[in-house]
Parts: sequence; structure tokens; C-alpha cells
Amino acid sequence: MITKKSREDIKRIKHAGYIVALVHQEMKKVIEPGITTKYLDNVAADIIKKNKAIPTFLGYNGFPATICASVNEQVVHGFPLENVILKEGDIVSIDVGATYGGLVGDGAWTYAVGEIDDEKKRLLKATEEALYAGISKMRPNNILDDVGEAIEKVANRENLGIVREYGGHGVGHVMHEDPFVFNYKTGYQKTVLKPNMTIAIEPMLNLGVDEVDLQQDGWTVTTRDKKPSAHFEHSILVTEDEPFILTKIY
Ligand code: MG
Repeated sequence: MITKKSREDIKRIKHAGYIVALVHQEMKKVIEPGITTKYLDNVAADIIKKNKAIPTFLGYNGFPATICASVNEQVVHGFPLENVILKEGDIVSIDVGATYGGLVGDGAWTYAVGEIDDEKKRLLKATEEALYAGISKMRPNNILDDVGEAIEKVANRENLGIVREYGGHGVGHVMHEDPFVFNYKTGYQKTVLKPNMTIAIEPMLNLGVDEVDLQQDGWTVTTRDKKPSAHFEHSILVTEDEPFILTKIY
């Protein structure tokens, strides 16, 4: 069931989204060669705690950390670890959720570690563009396939792989609500967007093939061909007109 949020829910989810944005603002500052993904997890946990919110991911289906930190060919759900040291030329996707007053904000961004090569730059730029192309379709009376189609168009233009197994989702009272948002046009995802729906849009695009594999830790997803992958996500409030990005600092 897709829920519309009340005025009070929206107040809270805006604040949850703001806290997610604060974490990303700090990630952008601190990510550099030589730091560990475990350090990034500690930074995120501190910000969420200071802002009187709850780290949504910690304990979610047993997930052991505040953030997901996925490096290079890792697509999503990587564990932040003491022995994962970021190096010049890596890319790292940070996904984080914060729960404030019972409402969840969810947002991800892929960061360059130092200077990255042109292909990785192209991947990051296109995946961010795909995110905003999808968001631009989050208007009342559009259908979710319009969002998927917009994302797919950017991926196809850049000849990038689209991860099919994961996608966007309703977000709010829990992290994953209905509906599921495909990052491509399905021909059947005809859910109609209405004001006060809150939905996370999150394209995951690959420099190589679409296919991904789940690693033995039961969480980390990697590209099958081991080429790099990027992941950009915002939580969105559908309004009467322009979509409102929740996971952003205004
Ligand atoms: Mg999400």
C-alpha cells in the first residue's frame, strides 16, 4: 500500500532528510585517500546522534553499520570496515538513512577519492544526471514508469549498465515502503504519483554490464564484470507542482 503523508509526517521527514544531507555534506569534506570506510561510519553515526535521530540502517535486517560504503565494483550494501582504506582513484558510494520522530530519510552519493580517471568521472556525472532526470518526472499524475524511462534514457545514451535487481522505493514510516521504483521503463509500473507521497529515487549504473552478484557476506553487491558502479539517491516529496528534494540542505 502506498501511503500519503500527513502534515506532521512531512514536517518530520523533512528533518530526517536534512540530517541525511548533513551526513553527506560531511562525507564530501572528509573523504580522501588514506581514510577507512569504518571512519566514515563513525562520522555519520556522530552526526545522526547529535541531531537526535536514529541510524536507520543499523540493525535493519541485521545490517551491522550506520552507512553502506561500497567501493569501485561494489554496487550497494558494502560494510564499512577498518581494513578498507580508500586510495587515490577509488570511488565510494555512501548510502545513509536517518529516522527522526518515526520518519525516515534515505540518500546516497558516490564520491571520488582524490583524482579519478575519465571513465569514472563519466559514470558519476551520468548517474547523478540520471537521478535528477528521474526526479524531474516526480509530478502529480505522472506514472512511475515515466521516472524509470527518464533514468534509462541517460544510461542508454552513455552506454552504461543498469542494475535491475534494486531500485527506488516509498520511504517514510519505514525505510522501504511501496511502491518499488524500477530504474528503467517496464511497461507495467503504472502507479500514479500524487501529492504527499514520499519516494526515494536511486539509480545504480555500471561502467560495464547490468548484472550483479551478491557476495558471501550476504550483503555486498558487486558488478559481475568487476567494473565500477555508481549510486545516487534522494528522498522526494511529491507536491502539487515541483518535486521537493527532502535529502538536501536549503
Ligand atoms: Mg534507498
